[in-house]
Amino acid sequence: MYRKDLQNDSTMFSPKDFVPDSLESCVVYRFTCAGCGARDIGEANGHFSTRVNEHLFQDKNSHIFKHLGASKGCRDKCDISCFGILDHASTYSRLKEREFSC
Ligand SMILES: [Zn+2]
Repeated sequence: MYRKDLQNDSTMFSPKDFVPDSLESCVVYRFTCAGCGARDIGEANGHFSTRVNEHLFQDKNSHIFKHLGASKGCRDKCDISCFGILDHASTYSRLKEREFSC
């Protein structure tokens, strides 16, 4: 048998290639408010799920945090499911558009 092949696996898939959405980093995401349909697009340099938590609970400079703070009806309906990954950050400039209307 060619046991040396076991060490020469650089061309094989690595389990690390399969990253759940919540652990993706450097992504462009869209927020869609479940209460009123307002939308915002942002960029996460860290983990996607971390950025989502900041928007929902911590980041006082976030448009989304401010929006939810201003509208209890929206706050009650919104959670992580309002966020979706659009693309990776390299295309952010092309996707950058703000449609926040409320
Ligand atoms: Zn809203």
